[in-house]
Amino acid sequence: MEVWTISKILDWTTDYFKKYDIEWPHLEAEILLAHALNCKRIELYTKYEKNLSAAELDKFKQMIKRRSQHEPIAYITGYKSFMSLEFYVNRSVLIPRPETEELVETIISLIKTNSNLTTIADIGTGSGVIAITLAKYLKDINVIAIDSSTEALQVAQKNSQTHQVDQRCQLVNGHLLEPLQEKVDLIVSNPPYIPSSVIEELPNDVKDWEPKQALDGGPNGLDYIRNLIENAPAYLKPGGFLFLEIGYDQGEKVSGITAACNKYQSFEILKDSNNHDRVLKAQT
Ligand code: GLN
Repeated sequence: MEVWTISKILDWTTDYFKKYDIEWPHLEAEILLAHALNCKRIELYTKYEKNLSAAELDKFKQMIKRRSQHEPIAYITGYKSFMSLEFYVNRSVLIPRPETEELVETIISLIKTNSNLTTIADIGTGSGVIAITLAKYLKDINVIAIDSSTEALQVAQKNSQTHQVDQRCQLVNGHLLEPLQEKVDLIVSNPPYIPSSVIEELPNDVKDWEPKQALDGGPNGLDYIRNLIENAPAYLKPGGFLFLEIGYDQGEKVSGITAACNKYQSFEILKDSNNHDRVLKAQT
């Protein structure tokens, strides 16, 4: 049997990934190999000339094959890191994005200076990443996390147990705001906001693997955003907040919808670290 050292297999995989147009061939080879060997990436370098066992090689080959078909790394390893927390993910849920970390950070700062904001609803919770991260970093809040997909809720449940916030994070199956029975202080959502016609133009990693229902926001991408802007005030206490993640080019339209519905005292569009419109913050 051919002997494969860590160094040799990394080189081979990097070349192989290049042929398949994988974005970061060397880095991704390292991430996957570290996962297959159950070690940290940095540790690969301390055992560079170590031989892989047949079982390790077999496990890694399966992962290479999946990645060469453009399956996202997070689905292959089953994990995605978000604000220094590890979240279990599978194909039932959107893979958490860095832009969403910025949204969550903004809410954490707001709540730290407004301790009267204690009840939060996360609409379309998916992996639970927004709800669970908020509950993990803010010990005095209670979150209701809603999703229309029962498969997604199973993922969120697993994550809320892992992060030990299940006592303060209630998972509910239902459509958008409908399951809410009491008014809350803050509603947050990262709704599907990509226009249907743009979905086919997305990279294969996204369009072939991530759930369409988590991405597709209807003809102009604004279906869910509009619904939430118009209906959230009925579920918010006076002075309550709505935070929505939006597309980089949707700021103007989202402002228009928010102004036209005439149910908010104030609102603003916040930019992300790339200086793109990214979040609607509105207060009733
Ligand atoms: N709330 C989840 C996230 O932000 C899922 C969002 C979605 O599926 N659109 O990652």
